[in-house]
Amino acid sequence: MSGDAVALSRGDLAVLLETARRFVRSELVPLEPMLLHGRWAEIEPVLAGLRGKARALGLWAPFLPPAHGGLGLPLDAFAHLSEVLGWTPFGHYVCNCQAPDVGNMELLLQFGTPAQQAAWLAPLVSGDLRSCFAMTEPEHAGSNPVMLSTTAVRDGDAWVINGRKWFTSSADGAAFAVVMAVTNPDDDRQHFRASQIVVPIPTPGFTLVRNISVMGERGGGWASHAEVRFDDVRVPAANLLGAQGHGFALAQERLGPGRIHHCMRWIGICERAFDLMCRYASQREVAPGERLADKQQVQFWIAESRIEIHAARLMVLDAATRMTHDGQEAAREAIGYIKVFVANTLQRVLDRAIQVHGALGMTDDTPLAWWYRHERAARIYDGADEVHKTVIARRALRPYREAGRRS
Ligand SMILES: Cc1cc2nc3c(=O)[nH]c(=O)nc-3n(C[C@H](O)[C@H](O)[C@H](O)COP(=O)(O)OP(=O)(O)OC[C@H]3O[C@@H](n4cnc5c(N)ncnc54)[C@H](O)[C@@H]3O)c2cc1C
Repeated sequence: MSGDAVALSRGDLAVLLETARRFVRSELVPLEPMLLHGRWAEIEPVLAGLRGKARALGLWAPFLPPAHGGLGLPLDAFAHLSEVLGWTPFGHYVCNCQAPDVGNMELLLQFGTPAQQAAWLAPLVSGDLRSCFAMTEPEHAGSNPVMLSTTAVRDGDAWVINGRKWFTSSADGAAFAVVMAVTNPDDDRQHFRASQIVVPIPTPGFTLVRNISVMGERGGGWASHAEVRFDDVRVPAANLLGAQGHGFALAQERLGPGRIHHCMRWIGICERAFDLMCRYASQREVAPGERLADKQQVQFWIAESRIEIHAARLMVLDAATRMTHDGQEAAREAIGYIKVFVANTLQRVLDRAIQVHGALGMTDDTPLAWWYRHERAARIYDGADEVHKTVIARRALRPYREAGRRS
C-alpha cells in the first residue's frame, strides 16, 4: 500500500485525528449501551447512518489508496487513527476499516483481477456489503493451517467446494466469503496445496450452521463468529483469487498488515480502559476524604499501565514503519513481538481497570467487561502467543545452535 500512500503533514494528521476523536466521542460512544446490552437488531441501521457521516468527515477507508476510494494513509498514520477509533467498539466498523473486511479489501486490491475488483472490492469499499474469511476448521489445529480438509475440485468451468469451517468472523450477513480450500492435494510442497476462492453468499450448498457463542455471547452481524458448511458449493472458476495453490502465500500477505491493524486497535482499547480506570479511581471514595487513587496499589496499576501502553505504542509504530519502508519480510519479527506484547498488555490493562471498578467492572455499564470477554481471543487468533514465541525464540537461538554444532 505504501506506493499509493498519501504524505500527510503533522498538522494535517493532527486535524484528522481531532476530527476522528470528536466524532468517536460525540456520536459513537453514546451508542455503546445498545451493543453492551445485546440490542443487536437496532445497531446496524443506526451505524449505517453514521457510516455516511464518517464518509462526509473524511474518515472513510483510511488505509485504501485514494484511487480506490480511501484516504491513502501510510501505515504509521493509520496506526494513530486506528488508536483513536479503537476507543469504542464501533470506530473501525463505522469508518469501514474493520476486520475481516479490511484484510479482504487488501487481498482483492493486491491479487484481484479487474473483474473481481469490480464485483467485490468496489462494493466493499463503498460499504454496500460485508465479507468474511473462512480458513480455520474445527477438526484441525488452526495454528498449523496447512492441515485442511476443505477441498475445491475443478469441474468444467467451476470449483466445487466441500468442507466445514468455524470462527468465520462476520459471516452473519456477509455477501461473500474468501474460502481457503485444498485444490492441489498432490503437491509435494504442503504450502502449495490450497487456494483462496470467493464464494458469494447465498450460493446453494452454503449453510451458516450457527453463530458460535463466544464467552457467553452470540453477537450478530459483523460481531459474529460462525460455523459454516460447504456441501457441493459450485462457483465459477474465475472466482479463484491469485494463482492456484498460492492460498498460503496470499494468507501471509493478509496476516502481516492484519496483525498490525489489530495491535493498533488494541492500543485504543487500552487508552479507553486507562481513562476509565483513572476517572473512577479519582472519584471513588473508599474512606472519608480518601479516594481509590490515593492507594499505592492503584497508583502502581496506573503507572504500570501507562508504561506498558507507551511501550506497546512505540513497538507498533516501529513495526508499521518497517513494514512501510522495508516490506513485510523485514517487519516479520517485529510483527511477532507486537502480536504477543500488545495482546498481553491489553489484557493486563483491562484486568486492572476492572479490578479498580470492583463490582461495577463486572457489569455491562462500562465497555470493560465486553472487551474483557471479546479481546481474550487476542492471544489466540492471528497466531496464538505460544506459536509466535516459539518462532521468536527459534530465530534468536539459531546462531547459538549453529555455533554449538561447530564447537
Ligand atoms: C474470536 C476469534 C475470531 C476468529 N476469526 C477467524 C476468522 O475470521 N477466520 C478464520 O479462518 N479463523 C478465525 N479464527 C480462528 C483462529 O485463527 C484460530 O483459533 C487460531 O489460528 C488457533 O487455531 P485453533 O483455535 O485451532 O487452536 P490450535 O491450533 O488447536 O491451538 C490450541 C493451543 O495450542 C497451543 N499451540 C498450538 N500450536 C502450537 C505450537 N506450534 N507451539 C506451541 N503451542 C502451540 C496454543 O496455546 C494454542 O492456543 C478466529 C478465532 C477467534 C477466537
